[in-house]
Amino acid sequence: MGKINAEWHRAHVMAKNPTEAQRAEWHYEHALHCGCRAVTPSIAELLKANGYKVPRPAA
Ligand SMILES: [Zn+2]
Repeated sequence: MGKINAEWHRAHVMAKNPTEAQRAEWHYEHALHCGCRAVTPSIAELLKANGYKVPRPAA
């Protein structure tokens, strides 16, 4: 598990009732900019289902 990017989290609060597309976008950006959470298999599936490449988590 990497370090939390607190600044990124402050700027990217997840919507209250996010659509699947919003969640996919959030997790995609999150994995690129923050390493506080691993990209789990279910998140990887969500990203692929919404047309994203699965990024390597930030170190
Ligand atoms: Zn994070």
